[in-house]
Amino acid sequence: MSFVLHGLAVSPGIAIGRASLISHATLEVAQYQVKERDVEAELTRFDAALATVRGELDTLKVEAGAALGAPAELSAFVDLHAMILTDPLLAEVPRQLIRERRCNAEWALVQQLEQITEQFDEIEDAYLRERKHDIIQVVERVLKVLLGHRRKLGRRGRDEEIIIVAHDLSPADTIQFKKLKIGGFVTDVGGATSHTAIVARSLAIPAVVGLHHARGLIQEDELLILDGTRGVLIVAPDQRVLEEYRLRKSELELERSKLKLLKTAHAVTLDGVEIELAVNIELPQDIDKVREVDADGVGLFRTEFLFMNRDDTPGEEEQFEAYRSLVKALPGKPVTIRSLDLGADKVSRGMRAAARIETNPALGRRAIRYCLAEPQLFLVQLRAILRASHYGRVRLLVPMLAHAHEIEQTLVMLSLAKAQLSEAKVKFDERIEVGGMIEIPAAALALGPFLKHLDFLSIGTNDLIQYALAIDRTDESVAYLYDPLHPAVLRLIAMTIAAGRRAGLPVAVCGEMAGDPSLTRLLLGMGLTQFSMHPAQLLEIKQQVMKSDYSLLRGRVARLLRQDEPGRLLEMLLKINAA
Ligand code: PEP
Ligand code: MG
Repeated sequence: MSFVLHGLAVSPGIAIGRASLISHATLEVAQYQVKERDVEAELTRFDAALATVRGELDTLKVEAGAALGAPAELSAFVDLHAMILTDPLLAEVPRQLIRERRCNAEWALVQQLEQITEQFDEIEDAYLRERKHDIIQVVERVLKVLLGHRRKLGRRGRDEEIIIVAHDLSPADTIQFKKLKIGGFVTDVGGATSHTAIVARSLAIPAVVGLHHARGLIQEDELLILDGTRGVLIVAPDQRVLEEYRLRKSELELERSKLKLLKTAHAVTLDGVEIELAVNIELPQDIDKVREVDADGVGLFRTEFLFMNRDDTPGEEEQFEAYRSLVKALPGKPVTIRSLDLGADKVSRGMRAAARIETNPALGRRAIRYCLAEPQLFLVQLRAILRASHYGRVRLLVPMLAHAHEIEQTLVMLSLAKAQLSEAKVKFDERIEVGGMIEIPAAALALGPFLKHLDFLSIGTNDLIQYALAIDRTDESVAYLYDPLHPAVLRLIAMTIAAGRRAGLPVAVCGEMAGDPSLTRLLLGMGLTQFSMHPAQLLEIKQQVMKSDYSLLRGRVARLLRQDEPGRLLEMLLKINAA
């Protein structure tokens, strides 16, 4: 029977395809009975998964040995995981459970994991207790292999895509879709500017979040229509609806291909003001998409994604190679590399394993706070960025700054990294530009130290809205309050742009607002001339820029900014956009 689910539209477009249910949380695996005659096959499936993980760990160890700068602990850590994998508690007991209870391998493994972790919680020795996380990581690896094998993707029709259906997806999960061909995804939870949604936009695949019970209601392989523009998911559509959506999808594709004609056009307003359109990227591989739209450079490289989906931490060499590859691929263009913004919804496996329970992670030790608390990690990244600066125009961008002392400490760390490189006679750009993200209201309201110490500013509207309006950007239950047009938000942005202009400091916007064509004129009217967004959004924003009169907008937007009444403000914006 056909039914429709409504959620938050987070990434536009239409996908028509088959559901692929995925389970992110370890304990969320399905339980099913295995027939007597299939028990041996289930045991073989379990053994094969163990063997695959053993192979993965062997490869990891070889790679770690070969990689320059890889920490020595890495190899010991891989050995530990290999040892856990062969321990009878994990390799044998689940086999007994499969035999005795005739349950599936995933379920047997998770049951056993629960038993083991309970025992670990009672251990007094903190070091030993912490090993629980290593066991969880090993089990997660095996589960991934088991679940991967179970997925039946073969039944797809020729023009059908895979639509991922999950209860929740972390940004680390979503970034892995870059390697796979995914038509779109839906989740039960999540907010519109969560990093999971941001990654979906960067992949240019439709996505809807906050569907509440989708994962429980949808069957594996069920036919779905995902409308990421309207936030709608149609399950088991009838033929008429299917035809209608096929038509709409091809119309959208046609519009997109028309936009491609703008690739070589200059982003200049009707009255001749040049606008810089740069891109946000998550991985060096995104460079092809940057070239496709001929962007003016990289306005934001979210380096934390290099640290996800792996058990180790990328060392200086690996980071340097990643940064240099980008710089060399964009000769003459600025590449803005943001220092690590781990924390809140973006966590590495190492951070998860450390399991520091934070009640409010978005307000906790995130981004620059984390880096300043982990000086060795920060220095490694700073040295890698500095080394890449020798090969092109690299700019360093620092997230989540709010206090003058954080800016000062960051600059001290940078000087230290420079001194270390100089001593080792390694070349770098002595005058590398350093910028700060304005994403905490306190920073926007007290810009003095930013203007005094830094070379440029970049407004992170995603966090600025989260912190100004006190709503968690990942929580769908408060998503209705996430309002880029709140007068307070608009004033914080306008104030920052104006202060930067007065001080002669370049100001960009790199939050999601920069890629929203309905807000382009508003931002231009505030005096913004530098935008950074996902490559998929750039040509549409260019189209808006080319249709706008900058000087005219300055006056109109100044009047809009004096407006406190939301309904009136929206009316004024609609008029500005329609003119
Ligand atoms: C922002 O906060 O607007 C931003 C660009 O950074 P991120 O989305 O990675 O937090
Ligand atoms: Mg941010």
